[in-house]
Amino acid sequence: MLPKPKKIQRIYLDHASTTPMDKRVISAMLPFFNTQFGNPSSLHQEGKKAEVEMNKNRGEISKLMGAMPENIIFTGGGTESDNLAIFGVAKAHAQHGKHIISSPIEHHAVLNSLEELKKWGWDIAYIKPDAKGIIKAEDVINAIRPDTVLVSIMYANNEIGSINPIAGIGRQILQYRKNNKTNYPLFHVDACQAAGYLDLDVEKLHVDLMAISGSKIYGPKGVGALYVRRGVKIQPIIFGGEQERHLRAGTENTAGIAGLAKAMQLVINEREKESKRIGELSRYLWQQIQKQIPNVKLNGPDIGPERLSNNLNITFRGIEGEALLLYLDEYGIMCSTGSACAAKSLEPSHVLKALGMQPQEARGAIRFSLGHDNTKKDIDYLMKYLPAIVEQLRQIAKMK
Ligand SMILES: *Cc1c(COP(=O)(O)O)cnc(C)c1O
Repeated sequence: MLPKPKKIQRIYLDHASTTPMDKRVISAMLPFFNTQFGNPSSLHQEGKKAEVEMNKNRGEISKLMGAMPENIIFTGGGTESDNLAIFGVAKAHAQHGKHIISSPIEHHAVLNSLEELKKWGWDIAYIKPDAKGIIKAEDVINAIRPDTVLVSIMYANNEIGSINPIAGIGRQILQYRKNNKTNYPLFHVDACQAAGYLDLDVEKLHVDLMAISGSKIYGPKGVGALYVRRGVKIQPIIFGGEQERHLRAGTENTAGIAGLAKAMQLVINEREKESKRIGELSRYLWQQIQKQIPNVKLNGPDIGPERLSNNLNITFRGIEGEALLLYLDEYGIMCSTGSACAAKSLEPSHVLKALGMQPQEARGAIRFSLGHDNTKKDIDYLMKYLPAIVEQLRQIAKMK
């Protein structure tokens, strides 16, 4: 056994699963837990004040997306935003047709919603990505049928960090609508992973619906938003009170919303600087791994403009990613195989499978996702142990 360090540090390299909350976000949330606890629907002064604050935050978030406050619906996270977009559109537009275009590398929040719609008689076309995990705009457009109601393509993939050409897809969908004198298909984008790193301007991207999550941008978990373009009709999926223009019932999470607004402000303000810094760290880590460990492969796009700068998904041939993850955890390093949401299933990742990888290669994959709190020291700590751990696991695998 490799000797463990005397004092084990905990090093978080799993920011694509969730991010630690920024202290400034926590400060922005605190008043809503005590002094400003009012319900935005109440008619007294405290209620009014809560409503004013919530709508200020709504305005702030909409501005950061190039939208208007009335375009933003607050939800209970990225999953709910995706569900509201998909079922909300499906329910409101079924009379036009029951065909949806998506991709096999979407997050399960999208994939499992679409699988549910199949049971309701909907037809789903999954556009194959290329070997790097990128969906071509042309392939999306070629799949459109007269009865296609919705296109749902993620902005950036949570497992391999591949970035889809959303603006291009959006532009071509607009062109298709114009040429065919139709309002369909609508375009939904899951931007949960992209929000911390890429431009969210809904006009430049030509999207009709866009999902974001607090959990991935140093904000609170269980809070998200769905952008809905003006004039795009959706139906609610949660019923009760009249909150969020009748589209999402339930007392609003005023603290969470304040946190989401603050988190978005901060990641967008600091995006350029942090992307660059984190990108350099990722590049350094990948260089070191290539230098010190044989038989490795970077899954997804090359490091560069087609890949989120914080993501490295690497296959260490001949070992199980899961074993490596658990081993690294013993040494204080937190990472992931594929996505956190599917971490408990033994199936190889649906994303790596969709890239055409052999199950054996896919099972040896590990995702390191870096973030604001990481420094070069963390990478050096990881590299002090990773080569020996991989070597040891390869030896064990050989003996089996
Ligand atoms: C995390 C994530 C979600 C789900 O967001 P939650 O806030 O955890 O519900 C959806 N899509 C993508 C791409 C994600 O990374």
